[in-house]
Amino acid sequence: MNICVLPGDGIGPEIVAEAVRVLQALELGCELETALLGGCAVDATGEPYPEATRRLAEQADAILLGAVGGPQWDRLPRHQRPERGLLAIRQQLGLFANLRPAVLYPELADASTLKPEVVAGLDILIVRELTGDIYFGQPRGIESREINGRLQRYGFNTMHYDESEIRRILQVAFEAARKRRRKLCSVDKMNVLETTQLWRDVANETAADYPDVELSHQLVDNAAMQLVRNPKQFDVIVTGNLFGDILSDEAAMLTGSIGMLPSASLDEHNKGLYEPCHGSAPDIAGKGLANPLATILSVAMMLRYTFANESAASHIESAVKKVLAQGYRTADIDQPGAQRVGTRAMGDAVLAAL
Ligand code: NAD
Repeated sequence: MNICVLPGDGIGPEIVAEAVRVLQALELGCELETALLGGCAVDATGEPYPEATRRLAEQADAILLGAVGGPQWDRLPRHQRPERGLLAIRQQLGLFANLRPAVLYPELADASTLKPEVVAGLDILIVRELTGDIYFGQPRGIESREINGRLQRYGFNTMHYDESEIRRILQVAFEAARKRRRKLCSVDKMNVLETTQLWRDVANETAADYPDVELSHQLVDNAAMQLVRNPKQFDVIVTGNLFGDILSDEAAMLTGSIGMLPSASLDEHNKGLYEPCHGSAPDIAGKGLANPLATILSVAMMLRYTFANESAASHIESAVKKVLAQGYRTADIDQPGAQRVGTRAMGDAVLAAL
């Protein structure tokens, strides 16, 4: 079990340290090697995804990532920005399937901005395509062009998917739905975008191989509304890179805190990059306030999906449930009467529960 650890920027090193402590406490014989990604890599080498990290990530069975980015790197040329490192690692490793569970723990029902009866018992899985769509499409850029007789700046991106890219993410989503409540909702914008008409056609074709899963379709604008109107109608949602980026953050907030949500990004052989859904939270970095639970739960996903160790994964998830039941809360999920703790103390509580 070779794991490449990429703490990254901002709160990344703080939350990854707690997740690594949890992983090591399980004594599964993991080999961990740490490398640079994001802004810290730019500072050290001039590149967000240096060659040494590239090699380590390629050789590893799984990667544990904190988060990258921060305002100090926002003015760098685009190819040097920390987020470029993230896109590059996903693309290099072919991590096309992003799995983001949005689960509302009963103890945190009050943390959601939605009424408890709307979100109580929520358990959704969003499957987002991660290596295609408008985020990678060429041509792209900002150019000066003569428009209406005047030289103007002109911005453009290209949305495209081929049918094999669509089919393989649909297959991941159908398989995931099979292990859950057997309901899959595919989200597109087929009334306006041809690319997503193809998406819907391929979704319908793929459904023929999964007669035991109920497939439905929603347009993305409706899906955004339904997620806050009646989120419990969903089991698994599958969508492209752009729509998935937005809908998965919306789903995250249904659960109260983005600090609770893990994610997995998998290739065709279940090699995966595991990271919390949130960013580097520069506003609280270095203060010991960040919630490490999303990163700890990302380790559970790693054990489940890459190392097929369901019992170790459940063990971590049970420990997290236990610390919530015991009343431990970081600032982002704080409640009246709770036991307020920082990053390290939350890690300690999970270790004690383990
Ligand atoms: P963010 O997720 O970093 O922060 C949004 C808010 O949530 C902030 O108030 C932050 O304090 C809070 N928050 C986030 N994680 C938390 C945690 N674990 N515990 C407690 N509170 C938490 O999003 P942002 O502010 O839009 O972005 C900050 C930086 O992160 C930017 O540079 C952005 O590009 C980067 N980013 C990186 C990733 C990634 O590495 N995958 C994802 C999103 C954003």
